[in-house]
Amino acid sequence: MRYIVIIGHTYLSQGASYENGWLTEYQYNNMIATDISCILSEKGHECIVVVKDDLTHKDLVELVDYQEPKAIIELHCNAYDEKASERDAFGTETLFTRNNPRSGELARKLQVCLTKALGRKGKGNRGVKLLSNKKQRGYRNLIDYKAPACIVEPFFIDYKEDVLLGFKEMGKIVNAIVQGSIS
Ligand SMILES: [Zn+2]
Repeated sequence: MRYIVIIGHTYLSQGASYENGWLTEYQYNNMIATDISCILSEKGHECIVVVKDDLTHKDLVELVDYQEPKAIIELHCNAYDEKASERDAFGTETLFTRNNPRSGELARKLQVCLTKALGRKGKGNRGVKLLSNKKQRGYRNLIDYKAPACIVEPFFIDYKEDVLLGFKEMGKIVNAIVQGSIS
């Protein structure tokens, strides 16, 4: 089976960060993407890691669809900094759209694996979120793909305890994403 792992954001626009750029989404997800790819390969799958840096959205979708992957996982981290009402938000969340009838199932599997791996309970498990409005963050990233596609957000990059968890449990996050993708 072939899987596509997309590193969210680009070198020039690295997404949300901890402490004014000390650690960005792009940096963290570059670190884990290679490990995800290696473990998938060890398990006999093929994994293509995609960096969006120089790609237009149209080119990216064409490139990904051409590979006919079983699943597409875009790596992100969550952030609360733009929503004052959600100060101190933390936890794990997985996003999907109706781009493919099986995207919801993929999201639920990834969410179960990630929350189990990170011991997320109560507020820490923010669940899966169906993006149905093009104004919602992430909708445009996923809606045009043919294959099942999700955005994983294992932790909040602007919440200290979550960032520490993200570092400490990097291996668990990698394994959970692999497990959720192939199961
Ligand atoms: Zn992001």
